[in-house]
Amino acid sequence: MIPFLDLRRQYDQVRDDIEAAVKGVLDSGQFILGPAVQRFEGDFARYCRTEHAVAVSSGTAALHLALLAAGVEPGDEVITVPMTFVATVAAILYAGARPVFVDVDESTWTMDAAQLETAITPRTKAILPVHLHGLMADMEPILAIAARRGIAVIEDAAQAHGAEYREKRAGSMGRLGCFSFYPGKNLGACGEGGAVVTDDPALAERVRVLRDWGQVRKYEHLFQGFNYRMDGIQGAILGVKLRHIEDWTEGRRRAAAGYDRNLGAIRRPSPPDHCRHVYHVYAVRVVDRDRVRAELDQAGIGTGIHYPVPVHLQPAYAGLGYRAGDFPVSERIAAETLSLPMFPELEDGQVEEVCRAVIRAVDGGEG
Ligand SMILES: *Cc1c(COP(=O)(O)O)cnc(C)c1O
Repeated sequence: MIPFLDLRRQYDQVRDDIEAAVKGVLDSGQFILGPAVQRFEGDFARYCRTEHAVAVSSGTAALHLALLAAGVEPGDEVITVPMTFVATVAAILYAGARPVFVDVDESTWTMDAAQLETAITPRTKAILPVHLHGLMADMEPILAIAARRGIAVIEDAAQAHGAEYREKRAGSMGRLGCFSFYPGKNLGACGEGGAVVTDDPALAERVRVLRDWGQVRKYEHLFQGFNYRMDGIQGAILGVKLRHIEDWTEGRRRAAAGYDRNLGAIRRPSPPDHCRHVYHVYAVRVVDRDRVRAELDQAGIGTGIHYPVPVHLQPAYAGLGYRAGDFPVSERIAAETLSLPMFPELEDGQVEEVCRAVIRAVDGGEG
């Protein structure tokens, strides 16, 4: 059996430190925010090479507050991609704005910067590229177009902790960057969590105030705000895990290199050389996806699909007015994508076994 994801192996490596960190919070009685969260914010900002990090209750909360901090209001438009998790799009709607989609690039599966300009209108307030699967979107042209038009860029880096684009870290290139610490993400809490990073002290302060009911001082509510605070226990656990993320990322990259060596002609995205891909997901493209997946399952190999339906075709977002055929690249990828087992502890022999099984299943269908 080779599982799609094995969180247990990671926990076993850090169990003693995590249990000590949790006990520290329990003994302190500081369950919400507090010193453990504050320490994690400092460490995570350093990790992202930004001036500030503000810890929040989820990646969705991070996106929502980053959009509000950037001044997104009802009536505004925010450009993103349909090839993402629904949270990216939901956060735009939470801010009262209208999501406008741009298709993804066939070779990277991230925002096609060449199509960005045509989606911009006088109402465009922000661009929200998604670093899908741990590969940063093509930030240079996106930032150049945004700068020319005076539009903010906010990064959805929920899958891209430690990813780089020309030596710049995910989250540090846009005006704000948003992270998720959902347990299965590259840096995962033992519960929900998220963070907003930025170099701008005023934006960091706005996010900090909005996450805690808009209070500037106790019971002085300058804004409406939200309950989007991080738990002390999650902050303490994330602080422990952050010390290991570089090792874990290298483990993912080693597994990905093994896939690249052994998958032969199986189609897959091709990350550019100037990017450090952190492989939250390792995906391939197979035409007869559901049959291949069933055969891998028979062989004891776990897989995932990220994502089977692009957001513009989800019933919940039908009201946005898009139709099948509007974003052909996203639609083709959604029909063919298959995510292979990926976690830092995956062994070379397991990677080779998965590759043999994938090739056998794909060839079997053609024969
Ligand atoms: C996980 C994820 C989110 C949402 O994060 P949560 O912590 O689950 O709220 C947003 N965008 C992307 C691309 C994600 O993968």
